[in-house]
Amino acid sequence: MAERSDCIFCRIADGAVPAAIVREDDYTVAFRDLDPKAPLHVLVIPRRHIASINDVADDDAAMMGALFIAARDVAVSEGVAEDGYRLVVNTGAAANQTVHHVHLHVIGGRDMKWPPG
Ligand code: AMP
Repeated sequence: MAERSDCIFCRIADGAVPAAIVREDDYTVAFRDLDPKAPLHVLVIPRRHIASINDVADDDAAMMGALFIAARDVAVSEGVAEDGYRLVVNTGAAANQTVHHVHLHVIGGRDMKWPPG
């Protein structure tokens, strides 16, 4: 499991930086966003450092699947699965990706607008 000391999400995955963790498995860690944009805002990250979706390799399919499985479980355990929720992956500058470690935003607990801003 690669860990980069300059990556805040690697440090959370490694336990070096505290976070409100809601779910963990061999591939992923899910924790509450520090600056929530909705009543539910959880981030699901791979334990392994991958800077963005652009850096996902063809043989990362199992890990990428694990991210979605984790997001599904978080939606159920946080009580938004039935009403609905949004999964977001910001990628690159035009999408305002600010943390360069792949993360899936699980956002719910309010009505969403479409298209997103
Ligand atoms: P993005 O703009 O898609 O890169 O999202 C990065 C997200 O990480 C933002 O919603 C931040 O609020 C969140 N964030 C940054 N640092 C932390 C942290 N230490 N713990 C929890 N969430 C964080």
